[in-house]
Amino acid sequence: MNYISKIFNIILNLIFPPVCGFCNKINNEFLCEKCEQKFEQEKSTTIDNYQNAPVFFDEHLYLFKYKKDIRESIIKYKFDEKSYLYKSFSELFIRDKQFTNQFISNYDIIIPVPIHKKRFKSRGYNQSELIAKDIAKRCKKTYFNNVIIKNNNVVAQSSLDDKLDRIRNIKNAFDVGINIDIIKGKRVAVFDDVFTTGATVNECAKVLKQRGASFVGIFTIAKA
Ligand SMILES: [Zn+2]
Repeated sequence: MNYISKIFNIILNLIFPPVCGFCNKINNEFLCEKCEQKFEQEKSTTIDNYQNAPVFFDEHLYLFKYKKDIRESIIKYKFDEKSYLYKSFSELFIRDKQFTNQFISNYDIIIPVPIHKKRFKSRGYNQSELIAKDIAKRCKKTYFNNVIIKNNNVVAQSSLDDKLDRIRNIKNAFDVGINIDIIKGKRVAVFDDVFTTGATVNECAKVLKQRGASFVGIFTIAKA
């Protein structure tokens, strides 16, 4: 970093100091001690093996059950224009030993679950993209956001309660993007915020496996 950009960053930090995304207290790592302790008590990191299950992904890691404080924070992040929370979420992953040592270290490429262009426009950001990109950067993994694309504007999965409706709604919703050849023979980790029925990530995994990915893992903040 050169001298001028260093000065620029110091000034920027004075005007907009980094805060803990969950409680807004000033904190350089975007996650304060108090919130870390609170989430540490809620956390139940699990890696589920799906290699013998009738799905296209091989494993799934999640940090939390989708309830209490983490559920509230995720909802705020998705629907309340709290895009700055992404650094606090990626911090929760980076500080998790199971995630860094037993999961992400086994992968070549990280991609986010894509959202449709229309949804991106109305929200202004893809919440999964921001977190996945930050984690990839910090774990020194290759990151791509256009390996798969959402090809039709299906109804938001969160608006459907029935499992079968969700599976039907998301079926064939993803298509290959411009970088698809990059995944051939690679181990690909797909990030989504919440794992509910697994229908969405399974459709992503299907495209990846059909195009030659050797192993597909899913990681989410929470599991419903
Ligand atoms: Zn905090």
